[in-house]
Amino acid sequence: MRGRNTACVVGLLLAVTGCTATANDTTTTVPTTSTTTVATTETLSAGDGTPGATGLNDPYNPSAGNGGYNVVHYELDLDLDVATGDMAGVASIEAIALDSLSSFNLDLHGLDVSAVAVNGVETASVVADGEMTVLADLDRGTAFTTTIGYSGVAGQVSSPSVGIPNGWIRSDDGMFTVNEPDGAPTWYPVNNHPSDKATYTISVTVDDPYTAVSNGLLMEKRSGDGTTTFVYSSDDPIASYLTVVAVGLFEEEPEAGPQGLPIRNYFSPDVTDVERSYFSRQAEMIGFFAGLYGPYPFDSYGSVVVDADFPAALETQTMSTFGRGVLRLEEAVVAHEIAHQWFGDSLTPASWRDIWLNEGFSTYAQWLWTEHTDGPEAFDGLVDNAYRTMSGLNLVGEDVAPALAAALAAQQYPPPGAPPLTNLFNASVYQRGALTLHAMRLQVGDDTFFEAVRSYAMAYQHQNVTTADFIEVAEEVSGQDLDALFDAWLFAEAVPSIPQLGLAPPG
Ligand SMILES: [Zn+2]
Repeated sequence: MRGRNTACVVGLLLAVTGCTATANDTTTTVPTTSTTTVATTETLSAGDGTPGATGLNDPYNPSAGNGGYNVVHYELDLDLDVATGDMAGVASIEAIALDSLSSFNLDLHGLDVSAVAVNGVETASVVADGEMTVLADLDRGTAFTTTIGYSGVAGQVSSPSVGIPNGWIRSDDGMFTVNEPDGAPTWYPVNNHPSDKATYTISVTVDDPYTAVSNGLLMEKRSGDGTTTFVYSSDDPIASYLTVVAVGLFEEEPEAGPQGLPIRNYFSPDVTDVERSYFSRQAEMIGFFAGLYGPYPFDSYGSVVVDADFPAALETQTMSTFGRGVLRLEEAVVAHEIAHQWFGDSLTPASWRDIWLNEGFSTYAQWLWTEHTDGPEAFDGLVDNAYRTMSGLNLVGEDVAPALAAALAAQQYPPPGAPPLTNLFNASVYQRGALTLHAMRLQVGDDTFFEAVRSYAMAYQHQNVTTADFIEVAEEVSGQDLDALFDAWLFAEAVPSIPQLGLAPPG
């Protein structure tokens, strides 16, 4: 076993804080220089500023993220014992104070913090209920670096918004992360909200012969004493839910993408040839989508297929993650995750409320890929089936009258523009979201539709977006008032008719 003494890794002299303090700790004053300090979140403040907010007031998860600062760059050094899952981490987080702060918060779940420093000076901190509060005296506009040593066996959080595990997950030959929407704080301290995108350098040290995969370009592969350190770097900003680390006995299969774009695929050894074959047209997919949406937005792409029957894939930036459970859906899911590199990764919703901007756009792109490979009838079939499912037409039969079918569908598939917090990724944000785009296309015509979507993708590259941003571009490019169309498709309970296709809801 290798030593995993976090305090040594950080290079700090003292472990400053009692970092597993609970709400029962009642220390009333906090020394600004100290040895061992235990405090409540409420008492941890310094200087003339005010405490940073513990959330960003996203209506879909008010406590998600933290206020008072904006992160510029994360540098994560993770030292992982693959067999036990024991991890020692050091996070260096460069940020800008947006207010005068007496303290600020990061999100962190289930890991032990051994030492914290702000701009190289040790400071006190407390972790409780997924919130880490760091004592600091910062003027508004100050750039500052927070260094945090931490350790433990990372785990999972149950997210209010999604039914699949979120966080750090074991696979048959290693582990992988699934962060969307709440998993990132299970493995690093983070401002966990999609509106605070930042660049990343992620270094992962694993025992030989394991391979560690992460976002961006592999900058360095360093051999140690029976270990290898993999250093990845991303110059383009990433939302924390799109960061990834996957470790396994991966077989690397590199290929060349359009214009020399490097594509690196990592397959766990048990991944079958049939499963691998779904990835054989990634270069063509990237070229196809670049033709529709503008240049591929990043310096690399790749897919990692982990040896777990995990029933999902995630569009982790530049390195999509696939559980083997999802590959039964075949090639279309590979196209879907590539389309997300534009819609979700480059253009990231400012609030979870607008998740249809990810899923509706990527589902529509996936349908376009199917049209490209299987012809217009296949595309028409996807549109028709989605409409029948979303509207309830599919349910109408001897036992189900049209009005009941419409009511059942409305209950199961709420309008995609404001999905329920407890069912954020319901099928409506995918399918009715995609139908919303198709309805717009039928109204404004093919050329205008694709020009609008491309203009939107180019205008907001690497930024955050809202539904209003897209509607504004769509109206500008088309010269039409599209409010009624988007209101009906995104926010009205009843699925609108598509007269051009002879489709109308039951009843
Ligand atoms: Zn998706």
